[in-house]
Amino acid sequence: MDKIYLYNTLTKTVDEFRPREEGRVSMYTCGPTVYHFAHIGNLRSYIMEDVLEKFLGYVGYDVKRVMNITDVGHLASDGDTGEDKMVAGAKREGKSVMELAKFYEDAFFEDCRQLNIKTPDVIERATDCIAEYIALIERLFENGFAYEAGGNVYFDTSKLKDYYALTGHSSDDLLVGVRDDVDEDGNKRNKSDFVLWFTKSKFDSQELKWDSPWGVGYPGWHIECSAISMKHLGEYLDLHCGGVDNIFPHHTNEIAQSEAAIGHPWCGHWFHVQHLNDRSGKMSKSKGNILTVSVLREKGYDPIVYRMFCLQSHYRKPLEFTFETLDNSVAAYDRLINRIAAINDDGEVDMGAFESYRARFIENVGNDLNTSLGLTVLYDLLKDDLNGSTKRAIIADLDTVFCLNLLNGGKLEENSDELREYVEGMIFERIEAKKNKNYARADEIRNELALKGIVLKDTKEGTTWSMA
Ligand code: AMP
Ligand code: ZN
Repeated sequence: MDKIYLYNTLTKTVDEFRPREEGRVSMYTCGPTVYHFAHIGNLRSYIMEDVLEKFLGYVGYDVKRVMNITDVGHLASDGDTGEDKMVAGAKREGKSVMELAKFYEDAFFEDCRQLNIKTPDVIERATDCIAEYIALIERLFENGFAYEAGGNVYFDTSKLKDYYALTGHSSDDLLVGVRDDVDEDGNKRNKSDFVLWFTKSKFDSQELKWDSPWGVGYPGWHIECSAISMKHLGEYLDLHCGGVDNIFPHHTNEIAQSEAAIGHPWCGHWFHVQHLNDRSGKMSKSKGNILTVSVLREKGYDPIVYRMFCLQSHYRKPLEFTFETLDNSVAAYDRLINRIAAINDDGEVDMGAFESYRARFIENVGNDLNTSLGLTVLYDLLKDDLNGSTKRAIIADLDTVFCLNLLNGGKLEENSDELREYVEGMIFERIEAKKNKNYARADEIRNELALKGIVLKDTKEGTTWSMA
C-alpha cells in the first residue's frame, strides 16, 4: 500500500500514517451537537473528514468510521457550567429535547447529503449509550481517577502524568479563549478537572436524566466520545477527528479518561480541521453568526460549490468565508464542469496513464491531505493530450475522493439513487418550509425542481414526484 503522511496533533509533526492493523483503519469523528442547524464552518470539518475517509479508502484501506450525535450533556460553557445546549434549544423552539434532536439530526444528514458527505458506518446517539458511560466511569473509580463532589462525578486530572499532551501547553491558563465560553465550577479539586456525570448542576431544567450509582442525572459531554468509540472500535483507535476547537478541552479530556480507564495509549493519530471564519471571526452556533447550507441554496448557490471551496484550501489553514471568494469557486467549478462535459468517450482507456495519474494523485493528496494539490492533478489531466475515454476514466476515479459530481455535468443522473435522494430531500425541505409558513421558499423549491424537469404532486397521502 502507498505511504501517506498526515499531520498529527499529538506528535505535532507530519507523520507517516500507520494504523495498528495492516490495511484497516478505525476512525472516530465527533459529531454535531443537534441543538441548531450545522453552519458551514461545522461542515468544513465534516467535508475534510469525509475527504480523508474517502482518500484512505482510495489508497486501499478498509475504513470503519464511527460518529456520535451529541443530544445530551454539552453545556453552554466548556468549563462544565451553564445550561445544557439541548435544553436551551428546546426552550427556544418550544419543542421537547428529543423532538429538537430528531429535527436537527435529520437536517444535519440532509446537509451532508447535499455536500456529498458519506454517512459514517456507525452513527450513535449519546442518549443511547448511558450504560456504557456508567461502566466507563466505574472503571475510572476503580483506577482512582474519579471523585464525587457537590453531587457530581469528576475526573481528577492531577492523577495523570501528561494531561496536556495533545495541546502541548503546560497550563490551561494558556488555553482560556480557545472556546469562546469557558467558565468555572467550584466543586473541582483542580481547575482542569471535568465532569463525568452530573446530578446537581442545572439539574432541575434537565429534561433527560437517568439512574446511576451516583444518583439520577446525566453524562458529561466528553465521556460520550470515549465510550462510543470503544463500544464500536475497541480499546485502540487509529484516527480521531474534529475541528481545532475540540483539541481543548474535549479531546484532551477524551484522552485523559480513555487512557486512565484502559491503562494504555488509546489513539495514535489526531486530525484537526482549522476553522472557517467570517470577517467577524470564528463562525459559531453560540455567537449566532451562522451561515447554513439552506442559506447558500436560497442565495442560488449549488451546495457542491461549497465543497469545492473547501477542497481548494488546506485543512490546516484558517479559511475566511466571503461571498466573493465563494463566487470565485462557482466560476472555477463551472469552468471545470464545462471543460469536462466537452470530453467525449473516444477509444481505449490507456491504463498506463491511468495508473500514473493515480500515483501522482496519491503522492499529492497523501502529503498531509493536500486537496488543492490534488485538484492540480485534475487540471493537468485536462491539459494532457490523452484520449477522451482515458480522461473520463481518470476523472471518475479521482472524483471518488473529490465527490464533486464532475462527470455528470454537476447534475444528477435520471433514475439514480442520488436523484431520488436529492428530490426526497427537497420535498422534506418544502414540507418544513410550509410548516414554518415560509411559502416563498416552498414555491422556490417547486420551481427549482421544475427547472430540472421534476414535477411535484401534493396528495392526501403526501407529496409524490415524477420526471416531466
Ligand atoms: P458542534 O456541533 O458545535 O459540536 O461542532 C461540530 C464540529 O464542527 C466539531 O468538530 C467542531 O470542532 C467543528 N467546528 C465548530 N466550529 C467550526 C468552524 N467555525 N470551522 C470549522 N469547524 C468548526
Ligand atoms: Zn467528541
